[in-house]
Amino acid sequence: MNLYDAHQHLHFDQLTPHRPAIARDLAAVGVKAVVVNGTNEQEWPVVAALAREYPWVVPSFGVHPWDAGNRSPDWLRQLQAVLVAHPGAGVGEIGLDRWLLELKPDDPRVAGLRVASLEEQTEVFAAQLALAAELNRAPSIHCVQAWGALHATLKKARLPARGFLLHGYAGPAEMIRNFTDLGAHYSFNIQLLEPRHAGRLDNFRHIPVKRLLVETDAPTKPPADGLNRFPLPPAADGSAVNHPANIAVTYEQLARLRHVPLDILAAQVEQNFRRLFA
Ligand SMILES: [Zn+2]
Repeated sequence: MNLYDAHQHLHFDQLTPHRPAIARDLAAVGVKAVVVNGTNEQEWPVVAALAREYPWVVPSFGVHPWDAGNRSPDWLRQLQAVLVAHPGAGVGEIGLDRWLLELKPDDPRVAGLRVASLEEQTEVFAAQLALAAELNRAPSIHCVQAWGALHATLKKARLPARGFLLHGYAGPAEMIRNFTDLGAHYSFNIQLLEPRHAGRLDNFRHIPVKRLLVETDAPTKPPADGLNRFPLPPAADGSAVNHPANIAVTYEQLARLRHVPLDILAAQVEQNFRRLFA
């Protein structure tokens, strides 16, 4: 079975010491491609180097809403240059995040960041969507607590003909049709498929099968202990680290939720992945 991880961050420090083992484990579980998302200008060369080293890395370059306030004056021209230099690359991770705006300035998660307002995030997001449309690259979109604003921005934008990815979709079920009409694909990590999200599990049944993808969001979003088939030691700050080969577990959970045999789901996801990211 061929597996595809539509969204993760192999270049993050938590995974670096384990990279050779991760590469072996991914091959062993049948992973054929993973989309590695750079989230700011400093990360783009790191992601590009990974794509040179590993043929199964699909690079994606973008400015994440958390990094939008710290972008350089020349960021958009730099983004265009790195995308033109990497014809197989996507645009991501980009998007809108209203939750970020609620964090207190002394929260360690925003240390060193200049937090961009929703207006400024929207401006940065829309500029990257326009670039993705112009180059026909797949945008990988992050959205937290800003679903209405996201829909409004997407509706106004010119979008790439191949569509776009809403990664880790946790929005309302009733908006799925609106996003789907605009070209949305959806990818889910293992945490979103846990029974505690019962209220949202309907989402995974409503999404058209042709728009379904699977992700780890590694090194974040590790599976619960009983499901974690590839445990890694915790990060320096004590947080749990998700091994990208756990993508296999996510496929199994999604197949169970959709009541479809795993090999049928995997074959469909392969088609969907290749259509969006090829
Ligand atoms: Zn991500």
